[in-house]
Amino acid sequence: MASNSNYLEPAPIHDKGNPFDSMMSRFDVAAQLLGLDEATYNVLKSPNKQVIVSLPVTMDDGNVRVFEGYRVIHSNILGPAKGGIRFDMDVNIDEVKALAAWMTWKCAVVDIPYGGAKGGITCNPRAMSAGEIERLMRAYTMSMMDVFGPDKDIPAPDMGTGPREMAWLMDEYSKAHGMTINAVVTGKPLVLGGSLGRVEATGRGVMVSTFAAMEKLKINPYQASCAVQGFGNVGSLSARLLHERGVKIVAISDISGAYYNPEGIDIPAAIAYRDGNKGTLAGFTAAEKIDGEELLFLPVDVLIPAAKEDVITEANAHKIQARLIVEGANGPTSASADKILAEKEIMAVPDILANAGGVTVSYFEWVQNRLGYKWGLDRVQRRSDRIMKDSFERVYQAAAKYNTTLRIGAYIVAIEKVAQTYHFRGGY
Ligand code: NAD
Repeated sequence: MASNSNYLEPAPIHDKGNPFDSMMSRFDVAAQLLGLDEATYNVLKSPNKQVIVSLPVTMDDGNVRVFEGYRVIHSNILGPAKGGIRFDMDVNIDEVKALAAWMTWKCAVVDIPYGGAKGGITCNPRAMSAGEIERLMRAYTMSMMDVFGPDKDIPAPDMGTGPREMAWLMDEYSKAHGMTINAVVTGKPLVLGGSLGRVEATGRGVMVSTFAAMEKLKINPYQASCAVQGFGNVGSLSARLLHERGVKIVAISDISGAYYNPEGIDIPAAIAYRDGNKGTLAGFTAAEKIDGEELLFLPVDVLIPAAKEDVITEANAHKIQARLIVEGANGPTSASADKILAEKEIMAVPDILANAGGVTVSYFEWVQNRLGYKWGLDRVQRRSDRIMKDSFERVYQAAAKYNTTLRIGAYIVAIEKVAQTYHFRGGY
């Protein structure tokens, strides 16, 4: 056994801390069940490329600040790498590495022809002016000119970035090439070649996954109750789409706390309230205010964590009463909680499947840009729904075949696909 391999010793299980190890502990279980050979294991666990750049930016007060920027391409075995750009003070190379690997598995699970990447800049965009953010984004794009490309590495928004930053990236990249190249980035404003349906794509995928899982568990949607943690893009749109289809949403939450009404919450009214209330549910009176964490332990059929990572842990997983968890957020369940959920026979639809509707419609955006054509909303939704349903079924079948959880089933589907492709392509 080569000394750089820990193939027989799965990575330690982490609740918090190094996110790369947390990802690897799931990867290891799946790799062992699959009987992945050691050479392929070592190839798939190692990121292809890690780029760290220093970005000097003149701030509005005339001082020059130097920011650190990252881009990690975990894999381009399946195709050009794909992954968002995060602006946050916690951004560091370990986090970017873990998120890049997650993108590889996510793209493979939904069978779209992309590898995985992630980028980020350690900064606090809330404390910066629009001009400072624009200069930072353009400096980052210029530094990554040889990394990005519609056939190489296609960024997208992540925490702290959105369509505005993607527009600056596209413009900077296009200027350097002397022509408009909108397929270099997704998540753009509609007028720059963004796709219809992108904003609600992740929530819609969560809804489709929830229905697919309810069917397996024989939960009648019209009698089902559901709690949703997080009321941002993913949480509120998942809640709205489920509510529209007859699922009773009894609890919602955001950073201001959780709101519970066992009779069901009028979700369009809650969204309207949030939109007229500086984006928060604070003061929402159509439901009883409860402690934020209590939402996780309510007597509901379905729980959708759609806020942040590591909310379901070894310390609280035993209190969960839901029969089904659908992970809208990335990494909401810590590796050590997986076992407790499995013992309690709670079905958990993992993040790399449940929230992959976003990257799927990003892929459609790229396809439309390359075709120079715009699809209608109906086509985007039909095709993404089909991909989400088919992916759920593939993962469900893999989990059944290997007698494991949906999470490990999803990793098995992903690793098997990337490994097979690697074998055909070959190495040196
Ligand atoms: P967002 O910023 O729009 O919303 C986050 C929501 O979570 C807000 O309502 C915020 O108040 C709430 N929140 C924060 N801390 C909380 C806490 N402790 N308890 C309860 N609520 C809390 O973000 P988003 O785009 O909806 O992303 C949410 C999650 O989904 C993240 O993990 C993100 O990585 C993941 N995700 C997002 C997309 C996408 O397309 N937006 C795609 C895939 C995965």
